[in-house]
Amino acid sequence: MSFNPYDEELGGGEGHPERSVSRRDLIKHGAAAVVGGAAALGGAPAFAQAPASTSGTTGKSMAGTKFRAYVRHADFKSTTVETVTLLPIQPRQVVIRVQAAQACYTIVNALAPVPPAPPAPPLPGALPAAPPNPAALNAAIVGHGGIGIVEEVGSMVKRVQVGDRVIVPVTAQCGECYNCLHGKADRCQSGFNRPLLPMARMPDGSPVNGNLGAFAELMVAWEEQTVPVFSNHNAAELSLLSCVGTTGLGMAMMRVPIEAGSHVVVFGAGPVGLSAIQGARIMAASKIIAVEPIRYRRDLALKLGATAVVDPNAEGDGLVQKLRNMTQGETDRAFAGGRGANADGPDFVIEAVGGERFVPKTERGPDPTGGQVLFQVWQLCPPGGWIRTAGVGHPPGTNVTFPAGAWSNGTKQQAGGNFAGVNTKRDLPMFVRLIESKQFDAKSLVGQTFTLDRAKDALQAAADRTSISSVITFA
Ligand SMILES: [Zn+2]
Ligand SMILES: [Zn+2]
Repeated sequence: MSFNPYDEELGGGEGHPERSVSRRDLIKHGAAAVVGGAAALGGAPAFAQAPASTSGTTGKSMAGTKFRAYVRHADFKSTTVETVTLLPIQPRQVVIRVQAAQACYTIVNALAPVPPAPPAPPLPGALPAAPPNPAALNAAIVGHGGIGIVEEVGSMVKRVQVGDRVIVPVTAQCGECYNCLHGKADRCQSGFNRPLLPMARMPDGSPVNGNLGAFAELMVAWEEQTVPVFSNHNAAELSLLSCVGTTGLGMAMMRVPIEAGSHVVVFGAGPVGLSAIQGARIMAASKIIAVEPIRYRRDLALKLGATAVVDPNAEGDGLVQKLRNMTQGETDRAFAGGRGANADGPDFVIEAVGGERFVPKTERGPDPTGGQVLFQVWQLCPPGGWIRTAGVGHPPGTNVTFPAGAWSNGTKQQAGGNFAGVNTKRDLPMFVRLIESKQFDAKSLVGQTFTLDRAKDALQAAADRTSISSVITFA
């Protein structure tokens, strides 16, 4: 079954008013409730809609459906668009017809795939790594989350219904694991409970994994990976909330929200940094300084809320001092409420740089490893200030050293990491409203859109950094 739940009319029309369904009904109740019968709209309790079969609320399984997908082959040597066949879903899984998926820099390695390396010896004091999963060597659909319409739900699924529009973010929210229960849903542990199961078969019958693989007409997600959003806004723009937009907004707004009137420095004006800059603007920071080597990204930063921009290549070793000077208080007189010389600097320092995986076809930053930036962030942050970090992909062996004597008394507070304090089920609907109300300009972050056939070009544009965000869209 395939339909657009945002059509103005669905059902019997004028002659059957009880079956005439408006777009408002669909958005408010979900298409499954509507298609399931007028009773759902007439006051019947929601649980009356619980499916009776194990094949989903549609009453029929989509298993066997052929669909096109951009696949990384099991030989880890190539990626191509293939027609694959959907397998039956698990009782807690859903099938989603993808509308848009972003080609994140985190996944540009798909351009030059390498088999998973054997786990490195754990660092002293670290928890042991999970043993390698042989299923990870299967072919896999490329992708990193996206947005689409639910077409089939497993018999145990409660969160979404057929016809719902859902964002599939890179981080789940199960609400049941230790971290979800302790206010750390950005570290949801449900992934450890999910078996890595193939979701489709190649034409030769071999298995294809699909976890988060949104570079395909269909994707399969577990219930806790889905967030229903009741919006008919542009799919390419909303797809940014599956990863980069949410990470940036989270760094500005969640866990440690930026305080109104504060001074903020953001290293990196890629899609994550530009989302953090917009988050700082939304939170009413008074100074927002973007540090970015690529000229068109500095221009975008100024358009989206930065009050000043700095080119790290132009500043060299003087970068940190320059940024400190740009963010000093109105006075050094502590008795007059000034910061004093030892507290000068930004209240929040946000890092959204990370390691370089391919040489960009634009201006190149001063340190491809991303390690130097982390040290500059630490240097710049004044005692009592906050450091937020989101960069990933540092080459192995990239280490950052801090003077031990400054560790405790330095009082530099850090909060960062995967999804930056965001609870996806709680926060994504709010981020959607920020996009709809134009407080978060997602349109300016969609640099270029591509068809599925050009998935490789989308990744290449991300690797080259020639497009602010590459998004694959489906008609
Ligand atoms: Zn969880
Ligand atoms: Zn990502």
